[in-house]
Amino acid sequence: MNKATNQELGAGKTKYIADGVSNVSLNYIESGDGAILKDVEGNAFIDFACGIGVMNIGHSNPRVVAAIKDQAEKLVHTCFMVNPYETAVKLAEKLCAVTPGDFPKKAFFCNSGAEAVENAVKIARYYTKRPAIVVFENAYHGRTQLTMTMTSKIKPYKFGFGPFCPEVYRMPFGDEVGADKLKDVFIKKVNPEAVAAVIAEPVQGEGGFIVPPDGYFQELIKICHDNGILFVSDEIQSGMGRTGKMFAIEHWGVEPDLITTAKSLAAGMPLAAVVGKAEIMDAVHPGGLGGTYGGNPVACAAALAVLEVYEEENMLEKSVVLGEKLWARFKTWKEKFGIVKSIRGKGSMVGLELVNTKTGEPAADETLQLVKHCHNNGVVALSCGVYGNVIRTLVPFVITDEQLEKGLSVMEAGLAKIDA
Ligand SMILES: *Cc1c(COP(=O)(O)O)cnc(C)c1O
Repeated sequence: MNKATNQELGAGKTKYIADGVSNVSLNYIESGDGAILKDVEGNAFIDFACGIGVMNIGHSNPRVVAAIKDQAEKLVHTCFMVNPYETAVKLAEKLCAVTPGDFPKKAFFCNSGAEAVENAVKIARYYTKRPAIVVFENAYHGRTQLTMTMTSKIKPYKFGFGPFCPEVYRMPFGDEVGADKLKDVFIKKVNPEAVAAVIAEPVQGEGGFIVPPDGYFQELIKICHDNGILFVSDEIQSGMGRTGKMFAIEHWGVEPDLITTAKSLAAGMPLAAVVGKAEIMDAVHPGGLGGTYGGNPVACAAALAVLEVYEEENMLEKSVVLGEKLWARFKTWKEKFGIVKSIRGKGSMVGLELVNTKTGEPAADETLQLVKHCHNNGVVALSCGVYGNVIRTLVPFVITDEQLEKGLSVMEAGLAKIDA
């Protein structure tokens, strides 16, 4: 049988996959190794996107592949609620150990980031017996009805999908105003005694790699706790070492009541978790939390191998070093190219904010051109930001210097083109 070409597969996609699912790239990927993806025609790409922050440890890590194969041969599924198994218990123990906070913790497993956020809200509401939640401008929490409501950007995420869920209140994020703005929310928008939780991405992902200043989360948590409100850190994109710490909130030295994690947790296997204070996690009645696939044995085996890789292959250190290289290079670009207004992010979660040099407006078209330039020259790049004018890098920690240099020089050439 002849192998299908990119064009043939694209035609099949157009014919059989809903148009609502769009693609950044038209190349159909067949295999991945470290920081390299190969398509069905043998074209290679340097992956600066990591499948949106999922493959932090790189594609096809041998330990993870072995763990998946081994588990798949033994047992693929029972449903943990029906017949429990060891991998889930072991992984929960590990996650309770690697998340911030020196207090008893428990974990809950589900399949996707959005589901983790939904469950964090369910748990927070149950524990506090309060209905409302407070979220932020530029936030991204997923595409289910509740998490879409919590998400800030209208197009493409919310457009046409209303009505939205009630009891979701929004405030400006820490890059714009201090944490005491929350007190203003209590006056103008919602009674604090009705608020179950404040949910924040410590470094906003889809919203544009936005980082609040030092001290911000300390103050925010204090206001939350003074009012009996839980603080939830959505670490789905910023966690798993991406900012140089296991979880980004650790940069502020605070301990969230609940943490949501997914994306790089199981290196591509669908797995997400809520981890938090045992007292809060245990509030829900038996049977109140669950799902058919949550904490699937293969996904848990993959995540256990992932955590081993972090420990034994120094992934945090690699992330820090990668971040330093990216920041150093981006600083030279900020000097060189007027279109680069700022460098945003933390550690290796770093992006460039692009603005039109004449008008000062967000340069969304140019950002798109840059993404295309990268793709046309063998680099998978992604944009983000509510204005679509941030080029972000989610480079696998294991990228070689040579691959990184090649990818960065492609990006630099693209910047030179759009800067003209
Ligand atoms: C990706 C993401 C989600 C949603 O995760 P899915 O697995 O796509 O449902 C939620 N929160 C943040 C911060 C994310 O980056």
